[in-house]
Amino acid sequence: MELNNSRIIKVDNKSTSIAEKRNRPRPASNGMQVEFFKHNVGREELESVKAVADSLFLTTGEVVDRFEANLASYLGVKYAVGLTSCTGALHLSLLAAGVGAGDEVITTPMSFVATANAIGMAGARPVFVDVEPETGNIDANLIEEAITPKTKAILPVHLYGQMVDMKKILVIAKKHNLKVVEDAAHALEAKRDRIRPGTRSFAACFSFYATKSITSGEGGAVVTQDEKTAKKIRQLRSHGITAEAAQRHRTGVKTYDVDDLGWKYNMDNIQAALLLPQLARVEAVWKRRHEVAEYYRQAFERAGIEMPSAGAGKHAHHLFPIWVSPRKRNAVLSAINSAGIGAQINYPPIHLFTLYRNLGWKKGMFPRAEKIGASAISLPLYAKLTDAEVEYVTDTVTRIVKES
Ligand SMILES: *Cc1c(COP(=O)(O)O)cnc(C)c1O
Repeated sequence: MELNNSRIIKVDNKSTSIAEKRNRPRPASNGMQVEFFKHNVGREELESVKAVADSLFLTTGEVVDRFEANLASYLGVKYAVGLTSCTGALHLSLLAAGVGAGDEVITTPMSFVATANAIGMAGARPVFVDVEPETGNIDANLIEEAITPKTKAILPVHLYGQMVDMKKILVIAKKHNLKVVEDAAHALEAKRDRIRPGTRSFAACFSFYATKSITSGEGGAVVTQDEKTAKKIRQLRSHGITAEAAQRHRTGVKTYDVDDLGWKYNMDNIQAALLLPQLARVEAVWKRRHEVAEYYRQAFERAGIEMPSAGAGKHAHHLFPIWVSPRKRNAVLSAINSAGIGAQINYPPIHLFTLYRNLGWKKGMFPRAEKIGASAISLPLYAKLTDAEVEYVTDTVTRIVKES
């Protein structure tokens, strides 16, 4: 496939700010500078935030309601609840699923640490199972043998944007009466076997953190098909109070009750204002990432460089990792960085962090996740990459890996 100018999808051209133009990668003496990530926040988002600043409610209110409605409609689910992070979304989803002290939640060690930490925040213990060697996703075939009488839920992660085998996981969950909470932080645009995040599970959690496909700097959401769950999470996002400020303002009811211990995770109107225009463009932006990912894949396949398999269904293309020999990985990563290319490791396996080692996990327990953690290098993948940058990354990474 050729990446020529005619194929570039012009994403959000008009909303590129002057400040962003000044920050465009300048050709360094040794070539190009390619950032690891660039967001798509521009003029439309600033206008949308200005409208909030000119209005009465800065915190959770009508703009959050609108974002929730649009997110639910985009995903084809009944309810969405706006929060301040995906970590909070996972925490509250587990609480709403009835997970608490003494319970176990089955999850993957190959994810961002938030996934397992949220289980601890709910008072429960993570039970890790190893991943598929070809995708890095939780291996659904290993889940059943990890179930104990204490197991309450399964928390799969759609790693890098490739959905896990939800069909298989939903069958296991039904058989053992477990709730499925999806960590869909990478998977807003994903679909597999006609299943999208949140459409068939107890709940799915999204992140709008700075490097995610739509972002408010920090932000998150839970989506669910269940009205009671949505209501519970809405209450738990604001200290457990029965009516948030905007609701009291709207209804004129001045008092409220607190009947459960909640947290402070409510998305505000400023975050929602940043997200609304990005959500409207999400498919166009995804298309450009898809194009870049396809170009990388074909070029690296030709060069004999390993990477996760393309997977099944629609990949959300949140991250694009390659896999290099663990002995050479850090040197290759440094060389890529020295060539002016932003790259990073996704992820160091969770069970090998000191916190988790102190709780009893050890090296060797999940060899496939450990191998991926020792081999992975994520390359720049975002819609603002120019064709010249994509070619520079492809050529430079291929050369460095070959010379290593
Ligand atoms: C980013 C991320 C999170 C955490 O999201 P926050 O919004 O920063 O809390 C959780 N899980 C995965 C897989 C992520 O990539």
